[in-house]
Parts: sequence; C-alpha cells; structure tokens
Amino acid sequence: MISDLIEKAKGLGFISLGVSRAETPPFFDQFSKWICAGRHGEMSWLERHMEIRQHPRRLLEGCNSIISLVYPYTKIKPCTPDGFTIARYSEPKKNDYHRRLRQMCLALAESISERYPKTNSRICIDSAPLLERSFAYASGIGFIGKNNSLIIPGYGSYFFLAEILTTAPLPAYETSPMENLCGQCKSCIEACPSGALEAPFNLDAAKCLSYLTIEHKGPTDRSVAMKMGRCFIGCDICQEVCPYNHVNAQAESEEIMLPSTEEILNMDDRQFSDTFGDTALSRPGLCKIKQNILAIRSLPSRDPGQEKTIY
Ligand code: SF4
Ligand code: SF4
Repeated sequence: MISDLIEKAKGLGFISLGVSRAETPPFFDQFSKWICAGRHGEMSWLERHMEIRQHPRRLLEGCNSIISLVYPYTKIKPCTPDGFTIARYSEPKKNDYHRRLRQMCLALAESISERYPKTNSRICIDSAPLLERSFAYASGIGFIGKNNSLIIPGYGSYFFLAEILTTAPLPAYETSPMENLCGQCKSCIEACPSGALEAPFNLDAAKCLSYLTIEHKGPTDRSVAMKMGRCFIGCDICQEVCPYNHVNAQAESEEIMLPSTEEILNMDDRQFSDTFGDTALSRPGLCKIKQNILAIRSLPSRDPGQEKTIY
C-alpha cells in the first residue's frame, strides 16, 4: 500500500512522502518551552490546544498513522519590475496552496479508503494544531536544520508540508529520523538580518521578518524596514544561504514578475482581490503589504541588483 501511495503522490507532484506513528511528536517538549518563554510573538493560536499537539490522536479518533507529504514551491524569488521581491512560498501566480494541496490530498485519502474500507482520514494543511515538521522528521523524510527548516538532502527546503491522518492500519513502515547534516555550517545564523536565529535551532519569532511582515499587526517600523532589504513579504534569507538549497538552483529560469510597487500602492481592495485574492498574498492583505512597501521605499535607495536572488 505504501509504495502504491508513494507512486500516486509522485504522480500528483509531491516530491516525498513519509509515515510516522500518531504519537507525541519529537521536539514537543522544546516547542512547549518555546511557547512558555513567549518566543512566538503575537501568534497566540500557537499557545492553544497544546494537549492536541501532544496527542495527535485527539484530531482523529482511532488515528494510527500520520502521512507527511512534501510539495515543492518555486525556487525563483518573485520580483517587481522596480527590483523588489517577496518570499518564494507566496507564489503570486497560483491559487493559495492550502486549497491546491487539499484537493491532491483528497485523491490520496480516497485511495486509502478504497484499500481500507470503513477507515477515516483527515487532511491537515496548516489547519490543525499539529507539529508538522516534527512528524515529517519522525517519518525520515529529512532533517531539521539549524535554521529550523526541514531539509531534504538533494532537494533543499523550498516546499510545503501537508498531512493525512488516518485510522487505516498502514503496514509497518520503519524509518529512523535523519540525523542533522549541518555539520560546522552556521551560514543561516550569520546571515539572518534581524538576529531572530539567535543560536542553532533557536528562533525568536518576534524578531523574524517572516512574522513581522505578515503576521504582526500594526505599522512596519523603520528599524524593521532597515533589515528587510527589498523583500516586502516574508524573508527567505536563512534558506537562500543554505547549501542544501543550492542543489539544482538554476533548474527554473522563468522570472515570476509582480506588478511594480507603485502599482500595488495604487491598488484598491477590489483590484487587490482581483489580482491576488486567491493567492497566499491574501494572508498579509493589502494594508499590511502597503505598509511594508512604504517602509522600505522610505529608506535611502540601494542597488536592487545587489539583492536580487535567483537561487
Ligand atoms: S526568515 Fe529571515 S528573519 Fe526569519 S530567521 Fe530566517 S533569515 Fe532570520
Ligand atoms: S545554512 Fe548551514 S547551518 Fe543553516 S540549515 Fe543550512 S546547512 Fe544547516
């Protein structure tokens, strides 16, 4: 069954699939301490449902296994004609990945229920209190880098994670978690512009530009803008410098072009909705995006070419 599922998943575009047991995930204690220390900024939803995060069977009665799925996103950083960028995962030319991946996972869940009638499955794509990276790590798909990303040797870390929880008695699928392969490298820690990666595996989310430019409510301070470079949504720097992301770095060549920052600043809600309403850019929303653009455009200009990243 697992090999059939892997084949089907690959046919749908997933690049990896792993299965772990529905039990307390690795790193739960570290996550718990991280929350207690208040390192999660204003993301209060992360504080909730700790008992479910600890006991994932509470998400699906009788759950036996958690299937972790990896779906790639672009390695090319979307950019504007005037030299500004946004994080890769936001994929401004595609529908929000949550819905796309859910449809694909539904096809896999149907295969499971055909093979195991009277079983139940539940799809989770950032939609449930689940330590997604921990389960993917437990399944042996990849290792957790010092930048806290899940890294697949030979591929890197530019991907989404999705999970299917299932009561189906999937055959034993024994894998060992992969040991950390960072070695002496600390490029991500040295390159983090905000100091959010304070030490290996140790992130202060309240300082992280991904959080500050998307989740944080309120204006974008000048002090934050000075660390943003020319990226006005998210931040990929700790992934860009990772040598594991330099594999097949030039495999994609097509530029992903956004409207200029001037055009975005002139958009009203309806124009924004028509252009980006179905994409991941709807998460920060037009108001936050405008604040971010205005904050970095108010700084003395820099040479866009210096910060344009294509790997
Ligand atoms: S996303 Fe950017 S700000 Fe956040 S930890 Fe990585 S490099 Fe630092
Ligand atoms: S940049 Fe280096 S230390 Fe950081 S995650 Fe990648 S390999 Fe590990």
